[in-house]
Amino acid sequence: MLSFDDTAIAFSGKTDADLRRSYWLFRLVGNSNLVNFGQKATTFAINTHLPIRGFIKATIFKQFCGGEDVNECLKTIESLGKYNVGSILDYSVEGKAEEKIFDDTASHIIETIELASKKKHIPFAVFKPTGVGDIALIEKVSSKVSLSAEEQQAWEKVKNRFDGICKKAHDCKVQLLIDAEESWIQVAVDDLAHDMMLKYNKEQAIVFNTAQLYRNDRLIYLENALKDAKEKKYYFGIKLVRGAYMEKERARAQKMGYTSPINNTKADTDKEYNAALEFCVKNIDVISICAGTHNEDSAMLLVKLMRQNNIPANHPHVWFSQLLGMSDHISFNVANAGYNVAKYVPYGPVRDVLPYLIRRAMENTSVKGQTGRELSLIIKEKQRRTSQKLS
Ligand SMILES: Cc1cc2nc3c(=O)[nH]c(=O)nc-3n(C[C@H](O)[C@H](O)[C@H](O)COP(=O)(O)OP(=O)(O)OC[C@H]3O[C@@H](n4cnc5c(N)ncnc54)[C@H](O)[C@@H]3O)c2cc1C
Repeated sequence: MLSFDDTAIAFSGKTDADLRRSYWLFRLVGNSNLVNFGQKATTFAINTHLPIRGFIKATIFKQFCGGEDVNECLKTIESLGKYNVGSILDYSVEGKAEEKIFDDTASHIIETIELASKKKHIPFAVFKPTGVGDIALIEKVSSKVSLSAEEQQAWEKVKNRFDGICKKAHDCKVQLLIDAEESWIQVAVDDLAHDMMLKYNKEQAIVFNTAQLYRNDRLIYLENALKDAKEKKYYFGIKLVRGAYMEKERARAQKMGYTSPINNTKADTDKEYNAALEFCVKNIDVISICAGTHNEDSAMLLVKLMRQNNIPANHPHVWFSQLLGMSDHISFNVANAGYNVAKYVPYGPVRDVLPYLIRRAMENTSVKGQTGRELSLIIKEKQRRTSQKLS
């Protein structure tokens, strides 16, 4: 019987030293004062070129990132692969809105697709829309206002980058996830993802859009998408997540005086997420899903739904996914039971992935349950190993 409490399996990829590092790290990030101070101090130190890069790289970077470039990630990919846990290389450099940077990012993503086509344990590539296009422009396109000639030209470039990445994924037969970000850019992203699926998902789901189930309109989105896929005869690929921008979404809605698109309560989001899983599993002939979640109930529900619907554990249309350094108890136990699992493996120069690392630290501080759960599992495994050595 599958259980997420089996820490021997959950941490089978971790040495005692890895476990000790994770223990201290999760203890530190559990302290909000320390994280707040650390965030400011780290940004200051990096900006003023204080020599702390090595320290960050050996601690929080090692926990949550695969390396500074694709080659440095190979060790992580191999060690996860030994336990049948796949890797999704996530180029995590953020916040630079220049045409040259967008082109560079698109090249990095194409590099990850090429690597994925050669390596057994990289089932997906991934990219963020704002990595390949200016957020203000994507917002403008989403709001359907007319663009100036210059903006139209820039938008054509964004579309070309999307198409170049998706075509490469199609030619290499590598599944490709398009991350979801703020709701005010999602209309354009949904439209582009739709066009890409229509073009490249005829034989199998190559392009996957992302649905954030903290939004109160995403079940309807899924229903419409399925109808369209059936009518136009393509496979619909979708990553299901709860959504990472809740505070920002609510603050903007309040500031601008419109009704927030986010569910009122966590229970509503949980209900919608689980309903989305059920909807997708029932339509697994046309839909491929990647369940991006650290929620044990949702991960277990997906297992149950697959069993109830006689879907084999390794069905190619169903994937579980978690972030590197988090919820190994789900990833490794699910993989050990024969299900398809892959971890997001963020990578990039230490300085440039700092915003990502700070978000992980903040998330593990604010979502108290998560840190508590990670820590209690690490402690349990440390104790198990100690008593095993004594016996
Ligand atoms: C592999 C992977 C890929 C991801 N990709 C994306 C992505 O492309 N885009 C993206 O936005 N996020 C993405 N995320 C993050 C994800 O959306 C969640 O923020 C994160 O995983 C926490 O949700 P959970 O399902 O793991 O579990 P839980 O910890 O059970 O859920 C926490 C989530 O519930 C929701 N929530 C919490 N409180 C409330 C409330 N009061 N009212 C309504 N809803 C509430 C929020 O979405 C919150 O993040 C990804 C996560 C993973 C693991």
